[in-house]
Amino acid sequence: MIVTVLLLISVAFIASLAYRYQALTVGGAWTAFLVGAAIAVSFSYEGLIILALFFIGSTIFGRLPARTFKREKERRTAGQVFANGGVAALLAISALLFANDELTGIMFISALAAAGSDTWATEGGKRWGGRPYHLRINTRTPAGRSGAISPIGTLFAFLGSGLIAIFGSLLLLGGSWMSLIWIAGFAGAMADTVIGAYLQEERQCVRCNSLTEEKSHCGHPTRIVRGVPGFDNDKVNMACTIVSPLFAMIIVFLV
Ligand SMILES: [Zn+2]
Repeated sequence: MIVTVLLLISVAFIASLAYRYQALTVGGAWTAFLVGAAIAVSFSYEGLIILALFFIGSTIFGRLPARTFKREKERRTAGQVFANGGVAALLAISALLFANDELTGIMFISALAAAGSDTWATEGGKRWGGRPYHLRINTRTPAGRSGAISPIGTLFAFLGSGLIAIFGSLLLLGGSWMSLIWIAGFAGAMADTVIGAYLQEERQCVRCNSLTEEKSHCGHPTRIVRGVPGFDNDKVNMACTIVSPLFAMIIVFLV
């Protein structure tokens, strides 16, 4: 009990630090607190360390200097935080309500491995990946675009998933299922690229005609030019964290 209270205080402290240092908006900090609290209650400090590995790793990576593009200094919103950590939090809650068994642990780590894999792929790819290849339009596009892939980005997807899989398995599962989680997280990030290429909505500025993921550009609302309306980048990221635990679950049932 006392451990849980201390963990909740630490989660609140980290969320407020992230707000203080402009990594998160107010809504993002509250969402991060709720995600962290659910994980702390279910998976104790082991679960929190796995979440922290993802969160701190991604935040530091996102703030590394970059020569090839302008770094986004924007704070992460509630939607962005939930897109990455929401599924892991829901799995933590389900562990609390139903069964805190090995499978739930595997799925929980897999969800975070996918989020880490996708984030590392984007950050590494944008920095060192050159111009990535877009799956749907069969051509090279500006770095960072959804649905595009590069060898360096793919390598970072593999490394990002590995970081979470290795420590997650050691902390929560006594070292077992490590390679399954590693592959599941990587598969989630690859699914993210495919879904980003074919289903994600693409918007265009009505003024300057540039393609964008933003809801407004040049001071005007953008219009949807293709993809599933409402299926934005956050939803694609969330899909990535759903594919990974499902993939892991299916393999666990098969073996
Ligand atoms: Zn514009």
